[in-house]
Amino acid sequence: MQKHPDHTPITPTAAIAATTHGWRAKCLQRLVRLDLPVPRTVALSFSAVRSIAAGQPAPAAAILTAFDAAPLVSIRPSPENPDWGGPGTILNIGLNAERHRLLASSHGHEVADALYLRFVQAYAIHVARLDPDMFDVSAPSAEALRTALRAYEQETDEPFPQDPAVQLTQALRSMARAWEGTTARLLRQAKGAPADAALGLVVQEMALGMGHGVSGSGVIQFVDPTTGLPQVTGRYLSQSLGRDALARAAEGTIYLARDPRGPSLEELAPEAFTALIHHGIVCRRRLREEMQIEFTLEDGALKVLDAIKVTRSSRATLKIAVALAEDDIIGKDEAVLRVEPRALSELLHPQVDPRGARDVVVRGIAASPGAAVGRLVFSSAAAQASAARGEGCILVRRETSPEDIRGMHAAQGVLTERGGMTSHAAVIARGLGLPCVVGASSMQLDARERRLIAPGGRILREGDLVTLDGTAGEALAGAADMLAPALDDDFRKFLGWADSFRDIGVRANADTPEDAQVARDFAAEGIGLCRTEHMFFESDRLIVMRQMIFADDAKDRASALTRLLPMQREDFIHLFEIMAGLPVCIRLFDPPLHEFLPHTREGMRELAEALDKPLSDITRRAEALSEFNPMLGMRGVRLGIVLPEIYEMQAQAIFEATLAVGARGIKVEPEIMIPLVSAMREVELVKTRIDAVAAAVRTKRTVQFGYKLGVMVETPRAALRAGDIAQHAAFLSFGTNDLTQMTYGLSRDDAGRFMSAYVNQGVFPEDPFHMLDIDGVGELLLIGADRGRATRPDLTLSICGEHGGNPESIAFCRKAGFNYVSCSPYRVPLARLAAAHLAL
Ligand code: PEP
Ligand code: MG
Repeated sequence: MQKHPDHTPITPTAAIAATTHGWRAKCLQRLVRLDLPVPRTVALSFSAVRSIAAGQPAPAAAILTAFDAAPLVSIRPSPENPDWGGPGTILNIGLNAERHRLLASSHGHEVADALYLRFVQAYAIHVARLDPDMFDVSAPSAEALRTALRAYEQETDEPFPQDPAVQLTQALRSMARAWEGTTARLLRQAKGAPADAALGLVVQEMALGMGHGVSGSGVIQFVDPTTGLPQVTGRYLSQSLGRDALARAAEGTIYLARDPRGPSLEELAPEAFTALIHHGIVCRRRLREEMQIEFTLEDGALKVLDAIKVTRSSRATLKIAVALAEDDIIGKDEAVLRVEPRALSELLHPQVDPRGARDVVVRGIAASPGAAVGRLVFSSAAAQASAARGEGCILVRRETSPEDIRGMHAAQGVLTERGGMTSHAAVIARGLGLPCVVGASSMQLDARERRLIAPGGRILREGDLVTLDGTAGEALAGAADMLAPALDDDFRKFLGWADSFRDIGVRANADTPEDAQVARDFAAEGIGLCRTEHMFFESDRLIVMRQMIFADDAKDRASALTRLLPMQREDFIHLFEIMAGLPVCIRLFDPPLHEFLPHTREGMRELAEALDKPLSDITRRAEALSEFNPMLGMRGVRLGIVLPEIYEMQAQAIFEATLAVGARGIKVEPEIMIPLVSAMREVELVKTRIDAVAAAVRTKRTVQFGYKLGVMVETPRAALRAGDIAQHAAFLSFGTNDLTQMTYGLSRDDAGRFMSAYVNQGVFPEDPFHMLDIDGVGELLLIGADRGRATRPDLTLSICGEHGGNPESIAFCRKAGFNYVSCSPYRVPLARLAAAHLAL
């Protein structure tokens, strides 16, 4: 004899688990245990559903005996994880001519016709798999019901099944098989389901929300799903079933709590409303979650059909986790684990409201998160003019250079045709907390005509209103609805909890006092990278930097350095004051020349004026300085070796600033970092000179101070020779932007052009400037760390490339025993949370 697949009535003690019967069956059992008025329910296990899909007869008759005589039942899917979906619910199984007749006399013809028609439609489409168009009847009526029954007979050559056991058998089989379909499989695997993910099913006695008295159905939840604040929300619809209230929202919807806009369930059925509020409180406390309860009122009697976790925004996720922990319902550790680190960026910046419409015109790389609305401008001058008029703007450039800094400051967002995750626009925008989309190579930029041609030929002109969504990497036409950032006390409290668990440091990459202030506000534990050349991006300062770069001889250079010294000293004093004794790691100049030379004739002319030199001198010098490959040219420490007075000036400014803030009671031990090192001798030479500057400052001021000297590991050779280099370095900080560039031989500024083709064809799993390449660059990190620590066991190790804020890189660095990670100030909260997750 064939054994029937098993089924279990859900009782408080039945053996039901999410791993054997699915999350819904388990959740319903919890509701039953909590004494909620759940209609009788039977659970079919994963193995039962599997054998039904394989052709075993479903135990329909046996299941039906678990209910009252002649029940109407529903079937709902119950996979192990609610995110994995499942076939749609089927309602009203058991309806037939006889039941229809009884219903007509007990509930009236209208109700009986509507229910039977709905069941025939659902059965025809989902179980018999007939053409949905043939059963698409809008208004229920006796005639519509007859037509549907006739259509069923014609299409199947059989009368509509009348035996409830047959209906149930077929419905169970169709749902079990639907789960095995290719599309369903692909959809759930995209959401992380394993290949062998199984389905459970729950069969539940229907509560009829149609008929006499107060009858209807609805959903209720006790928090606002967008803000996470306590609020009764949901919908109730009289004379409806299942999730009708959600599907047919507009007409006939009744508010739940009292509402001036119309009638409410609270007034209509005060006892049921009070009971629902009570059930909500019980669910929150005992299920340790904010639940959405699906309910039906059957002639005034409340039935709870189901409860699911409230679907919520990231900001609501954090609010709810904090509230649950504060009410001692969950621990702080669990609260911390309930928020995904990446979700935090939604709280830090304005976002496009996901509920609104999206008219996407341009797509590119999502280089800096957040969203902003503004009018299109095609030059930095136009951006500044727009800001002066008090009008928000989105700056569009082929790519940006230091000359655009003013324009970027003035803009609400930046869109570039070229570039990748670590190009100038991306790095600066992340630092400023501006939304930025780069590498939008599918648009054609016509800066002269001040317009851009989007794919498909759509033209956007200067002054057109757009929304730049840096989180999604898209530009949208018009002003989208926005959500404001959510940096409130709960946010700070939550991250404070995260800090109490994490075991790797988090610093910020901060170049200016404004950056440092953001870093402090986000509780960074210091500055891990201050790119000193970035302190000269502002145009009134850029000129002094250029004067130094353009100096023909030592005398000219000395005069430029004399101007730079007090500026640098003031900069460092500011940083030290803001960081109030926290460590500050200052990187000596690393100006890739192409970022600092003027590119246009206009720029050359301005420079000639500022330096009081003939234009021909400037163009000649610019030609002499120009390099074929500036990223591999006279950068970083090479400048320090060839023109030592530049680093000496910086060291002097750092030490004098240290003494200045020391006199005001702020004790600082500055960290000085040498960029782009590839040989130990470079470090030796620079160290000797900086030691000499320190000695000179000490002698002159007769005050003692200490400092640490470290090296940025940005070239593969520096990683390989870290053992030698560590002899002269107290710390090594891995600059994974350049290290990625040099390991792959990929240009940081040009790779955006082909990166999507590479990723789409699976050459690289991800853009390596975005996600640390663990296999290649990561190996260099491990080699560098091991060799460095072999020489100097107390060597401090860190990462300061843009990868420093990625959860995956943080996990890698933590495992390798790094002391801290350093990332853009706006990514510090994410890094703090990601690090806490790793430690829990
Ligand atoms: C790096 O190369 O990783 C780095 C942090 O330096 P920059 O981005 O300034 O070259
Ligand atoms: Mg670098």
